[in-house]
Amino acid sequence: MRTLVVAEHDSTTLTRGARSAVGAAAKLGGEIDVLVAGWQCQAAAEAAARLAGVRRVLFADAEHYAHDLAEELAQLVAQLAPDYTHVLTGATVYGRNFLPRTAALLDVTPLSDVVEIQSSERFVRPMYAGNVLATVIMRDATKLLTVRVTAFEEAQAGGGAPIDRVNVPAPRALSALVERIPTVADRPDLRTASIVVGAGRGVASADGMKLVETLADRLGAAIGATRAAVDTGLAPNDWQVGQTGKVVAPTLYLAVGLSGAIQHVAGMSGSKIIVAINRDPDATIFEIADYGLVSDLFTALPELIAVLDR
Ligand SMILES: Cc1cc2nc3c(=O)[nH]c(=O)nc-3n(C[C@H](O)[C@H](O)[C@H](O)COP(=O)(O)OP(=O)(O)OC[C@H]3O[C@@H](n4cnc5c(N)ncnc54)[C@H](O)[C@@H]3O)c2cc1C
Repeated sequence: MRTLVVAEHDSTTLTRGARSAVGAAAKLGGEIDVLVAGWQCQAAAEAAARLAGVRRVLFADAEHYAHDLAEELAQLVAQLAPDYTHVLTGATVYGRNFLPRTAALLDVTPLSDVVEIQSSERFVRPMYAGNVLATVIMRDATKLLTVRVTAFEEAQAGGGAPIDRVNVPAPRALSALVERIPTVADRPDLRTASIVVGAGRGVASADGMKLVETLADRLGAAIGATRAAVDTGLAPNDWQVGQTGKVVAPTLYLAVGLSGAIQHVAGMSGSKIIVAINRDPDATIFEIADYGLVSDLFTALPELIAVLDR
């Protein structure tokens, strides 16, 4: 068995998604190679080489990999994949973008968002907004998987694999990066934060949002939001948690003014402790909350902030 992990990185360090994918590959057993594709990203290749369990790093350093364009990456991975029984990457925007394209080039079926590896052919993934766990048996010679970042232990340092440059295919030039607009955030990354304050439609106004932000800052938390909160303009799109947003699994998820719709719960039910503040005692969120406070958030949040300030 030979697994290729396609590693997401920022040219210098590997992302948590990449380290989790190596952790998932270790569950499969067999040899693990890591592909680091990018431009001027030697440091990231060296970081991959230091991970325990990695046999070798394939280093594809070319200008057309500078911006993680899925069309370029898909072709590179499709060229390498036939040498492997499994190709793994994190179920992040990066992995979700290129892996289906690789699958199409190879004419195989990809499996997304794997949360458990039972054997080299049996995998578990959520369906129907996380209400069902499907066990899937794959028979393709090369199995293409994205793995849920929070479901696998991150690989740790402790290795010393060689770094081999690979021959890269010529650019396909099907797409080009026009502009990159980074989101400016002083808060922790939503996907990896250990505390998340989730804001729902009940937050209702800029004043309500200010309370949520103040609470998040006091707790050193990231802010998540429901789709209703995003649709009404209370929160930006990249804060959305749920079936069509981000999947988070913090130690503490503080759900404020949100009802607990299944599509939202799909993105946060893996949280270790869920605390809900809602003025409706029958709100669905109380069914999964470890602690619930039936209260108007415009009363509860100022009190909570005052206590934290003390
Ligand atoms: C295909 C599909 C995909 C979807 N994907 C997602 C997704 O990824 N993420 C997502 O979140 N949703 C998603 N949705 C939408 C989802 O179905 C719900 O509509 C949405 O999650 C509801 O958001 P909410 O809980 O903020 O709003 P509501 O359901 O309107 O709940 C608001 C809550 O706030 C409480 N409240 C109001 N005022 C106060 C107050 N002053 N103090 C305290 N509590 C108060 C109310 O009691 C209520 O429980 C999706 C829907 C579909 C169909």
